Amino acid sequence: MHMSAIRVLPDLLINQIAAGEVVDRPASALKELLENSLDAGAGEISVQLERGGTKLLKVLDNGSGIAKDELALALARHATSKISTVDDLERVASLGFRGEALASIAAVSKLTLASRKTGERNAWKIESSGGVMRPIEPAALSHGTSVEAHELYFNTPARRKFLKSEATELAHCEDVLKRAALSRPDVSFSLQHNRHVQWRLAAQDLSDRIRAVLGDDFAASSITIDEHTGGLRLRGMAGLPAYSRGARDAQYFYVNRRFVRDKLVAHALREAYHDILHHERHAAFVLFLEIDPSAVDVNVHPTKIEVRFRDAHAVHQFVYHALNKALSAPVLEHSAARLVQFNPFAAHHRAAQTEIHLGVSQPAAFYETLTANLSPPQSLETVGDARQEIPPLGFALGQLQGIYILAQNDRGLVIVDMHAAHERIMYEKMKNALDAGTPAMQALLIPATFNADKQDVATAEENAALLRELGFELACVGPNVIAVRAVPTMLKDADAAELSRAVLKDIREIGASRVLTERRDELLGTLACHSAVRAHRALGLGEMNALLREMEATERAGHCNHGRPTWFQITVEELDRMFMRGK
Ligand code: ADP
Ligand code: MG
Repeated sequence: MHMSAIRVLPDLLINQIAAGEVVDRPASALKELLENSLDAGAGEISVQLERGGTKLLKVLDNGSGIAKDELALALARHATSKISTVDDLERVASLGFRGEALASIAAVSKLTLASRKTGERNAWKIESSGGVMRPIEPAALSHGTSVEAHELYFNTPARRKFLKSEATELAHCEDVLKRAALSRPDVSFSLQHNRHVQWRLAAQDLSDRIRAVLGDDFAASSITIDEHTGGLRLRGMAGLPAYSRGARDAQYFYVNRRFVRDKLVAHALREAYHDILHHERHAAFVLFLEIDPSAVDVNVHPTKIEVRFRDAHAVHQFVYHALNKALSAPVLEHSAARLVQFNPFAAHHRAAQTEIHLGVSQPAAFYETLTANLSPPQSLETVGDARQEIPPLGFALGQLQGIYILAQNDRGLVIVDMHAAHERIMYEKMKNALDAGTPAMQALLIPATFNADKQDVATAEENAALLRELGFELACVGPNVIAVRAVPTMLKDADAAELSRAVLKDIREIGASRVLTERRDELLGTLACHSAVRAHRALGLGEMNALLREMEATERAGHCNHGRPTWFQITVEELDRMFMRGK
């Protein structure tokens, strides 16, 4: 290529180059316009799109407006009302601050900016085509600001070629609108596409807004978070594993109400979900981090989607601990939270009891249940006002199909997946025990022996020390026979031979060096699974109640370590509805 002399680029070209970064598709232009409206204090924002925003992208707000003699300036590059000094730049409190967006959008579209400044008698507008501005004219606008960008990229064919289908561009615009809507529930938003109303969101409180944007399912299986320490606050809602997703499409994280993607924060969030979410599933959440603006640099990315924290480590720790704490709150709190969410308790205990019994398959358990329920303190009838004494997961009624425990609490029926719940309890116990050192060992009076292949024998011999650290003592008593002499006390009820075989298999597959470090959770999972009560084992009511009490006391008991739920509540109201009572 022949190189010509160096020269300064004309303004329009500079703006078009900037547009390539800042407004690379209609959705990015929409994001900038929404930010401007929010910065202007708008309480109402309506968006109109045609053809996915490529034919028309219009944002109308009721914010503070722009003065007549500043309209042209608003379209100029590096013209902003939001910061004026380096100090300001170091503590940006607005969404915009670069003064680039309107100039960039104007450079690649036919744009009309109309506004009526609060307190002014008239509205004015300025039009620009590909950055060439026309004189200011009167406009018809009762308040606020309206920005219309027609034919985006009409003068930059290369950019136009990168646009996807109308539906795809629309979807990106909707994503942008959702992010804005979640960040500001106090603002009403509406969206029209090709003259059809797509959404309308009235100003509401945060939980209603989250429900409106993410759906009832998310709201019903998420917990509310509000934690703060040392100038940092994290609030919002985090989905429980029952609502996990195959993709990261429901992850909203904001820093001072700005939607951001941050590797460090993403890592902290993943870690907090680590124990309760299957690794191929993604959590859903809407979380707001509040931090002193001077402790975060927002000027690191052209579209402002990345930020840099001054004390990244502190932010990571805080986010991780705040979320982890909320997610591992005992069942008690989750249950209390649900109580608040649902309709007040209606007293139809007796009806619930009779109906529940119909589902119990084992006659012996059935009678046991009846008597148990008639004798205080397990009878809900006698509890009366002392309802708070009923534990969150209630008292066991019986076993269903040998798989589920049915229990009754003050809200109705509780159904527990016996194996999954026990597995979760064992997992946490093992984890705590290992954290504290070597678990207590229980010597077997009669060692359990099993036939082992050469590899197992070799693994057991080579890793005797590691096995002891885990609480196992294995001895090779023949060329292919291993004797189990001791197991961790807390696993003494498991089949010792099967358990040992599984541990040897893990050590072989994961590698001895990693079994207690980065892959420890897998080993814990194996141990928990093998020691958890098997499906189809008959449990007495006492055992069932003991399991319920352990669930309440165990962190994260609501989910087994594969992320499956361990229990469900069916309220009396729900049963009444099923039986059409009171209709
Ligand atoms: P920035 O938002 O970074 O300041 P923009 O190019 O997006 O830069 O906007 C330039 C200026 O125009 C803003 O600083 C603001 O003063 C004004 N402005 C833009 N949009 C609006 C709006 N919707 N309402 C009021 N003022 C606006
Ligand atoms: Mg802006």
